[in-house]
Amino acid sequence: MISIEGKSGTPRSRPPYPAFEGLWGKPTIINNVETLANIPKIILKGADWYSSIGTSTSKGTKIFSLVGKVRNTGLIEVEMGTTLREIIFDIGGGVRKGKRFKAVQTGGPSGGCIPISRIDMPVDYDSLKEVGAIMGSGGMIVMDETSCMVDVARYFINFLLFESCGKCVPCREGLKQMHHILTNICEGLGEKGDIERLEELAHFMMATSLCGLGGTAPNPVLSTIRYFRDEYNAHIYAKKCSAGVCKNLFEYVIDAELCNGCTICKLKCPEKAISGEKKKPHSINPRLCIKCGICFNLCKREAIRVR
Ligand code: SF4
Ligand code: SF4
Ligand code: SF4
Repeated sequence: MISIEGKSGTPRSRPPYPAFEGLWGKPTIINNVETLANIPKIILKGADWYSSIGTSTSKGTKIFSLVGKVRNTGLIEVEMGTTLREIIFDIGGGVRKGKRFKAVQTGGPSGGCIPISRIDMPVDYDSLKEVGAIMGSGGMIVMDETSCMVDVARYFINFLLFESCGKCVPCREGLKQMHHILTNICEGLGEKGDIERLEELAHFMMATSLCGLGGTAPNPVLSTIRYFRDEYNAHIYAKKCSAGVCKNLFEYVIDAELCNGCTICKLKCPEKAISGEKKKPHSINPRLCIKCGICFNLCKREAIRVR
């Protein structure tokens, strides 16, 4: 490990970036195939041609992996500056099963979640940074009303926890503590002050982690708190998960007005938790229900609701 001078003059270790120490222990440039694929075109057609594509600060095109609750999934290539609406609704065909769009997570595990209020933002480096997200690996995960944003943050923090090399304390212990707090919130054990603790941890990690992983890892937490604070509050104080994801925090109920007694849910319930006569409104016994969601997904009349 190469030693460099810290601001105070004390020697400190260089971060483990390949630019400092990579192949054969030498400084190494890392580029992905997407970057390299642009070079022949730029050489053939010139920098001016390339600069004419995209926005004033983000040039060219970008490949995204468009996945999640969107109709058309797959790899897409769009001009920098294309709006989220164009990507998700024009190219992606909108949200599946007629559900409402809730958010899109960009940039891979350490990216941020962008809410519907920003659907018309152009996708470029500056705009993403401004909303607390990143371009990152080019992942774009579309979420609908059945996605719980606290659970989403927990999912990504859990992933990053295993990605962390464990070399520095802020990232290693910070991710562990974040995951612990988020799990408690999702299980109905959230406490007053948890949101503030998460924010404090996040800022500390961003300021003191050794490499980019720890520096960006808090993004899923900070962006979900920024745009979906109400959901955090509902989990912590009302013990409710309106998306129907955190099993301790909701129950399924059948709306008697909408139920026509088709019996499909009753026949498919693995716990025999649903009762009712044919062509009459059915009901769910909450003591038997394990919240598997089979009935919720099967009911064509959308008579089963999350409460
Ligand atoms: S920030 Fe995380 S991944 Fe990076 S050196 Fe520290 S522990 Fe390792
Ligand atoms: S599937 Fe829906 S409509 Fe049919 S019995 Fe169950 S709740 Fe009622
Ligand atoms: S959620 Fe699962 S266990 Fe509960 S009533 Fe529906 S099908 Fe039965």
